[in-house]
Amino acid sequence: MFKLEPLKFEKNALIPYMSEETVSFHYGKHHQGYVDNLNKLIAGTKFEDMNLEQIIKEASYDVKYAPVFNNAAQVFNHNFFWRCISPNGKRRPDDIRLKKIEETFGSYENFETEFKQAAISQFGSGWVWLAEDKEGRLQVLKTSNADNPLTRDLKPLMTVDVWEHAYYLDYQNRRADFVDTFLKHLINWE
Ligand code: MN
Repeated sequence: MFKLEPLKFEKNALIPYMSEETVSFHYGKHHQGYVDNLNKLIAGTKFEDMNLEQIIKEASYDVKYAPVFNNAAQVFNHNFFWRCISPNGKRRPDDIRLKKIEETFGSYENFETEFKQAAISQFGSGWVWLAEDKEGRLQVLKTSNADNPLTRDLKPLMTVDVWEHAYYLDYQNRRADFVDTFLKHLINWE
């Protein structure tokens, strides 16, 4: 049985950048819903004793497990997303990662631009990631719906949720404004 991972901040701690209403619905309804659905779907199946990463990999191979994949990946993605946010987080990565970002993208600001561009250009629901491959190379990538870097053997380092439920109450259709705010006021590189 999976449980909803506790938030490290109060639901009103992100005001004015993310409202208490958004956190309540996003965490308490959407994220909780993925956890509940996943538990129902895996009960009594081969997935029951696997961890999230194992379920995601195993379920991604077979389209008949799409509901298991979607819910497991969304639980993983949301656990990761909430850890990438903090009211008083580290807004820049540590020196080693910052240096690597600067080497890869030219500057931290260029990384932000590429990350934002990926968010704007993701058609429909999805996620934007900074991820690392097995050789330690960095890349920004966008994924649709529940998909995530694990299905490409990449390790996620940062993410923002660009499903409308992540920003619509606060920013309506202005996804770019939400991602700007995320990068400036919410991002947490701890
Ligand atoms: Mn979400």
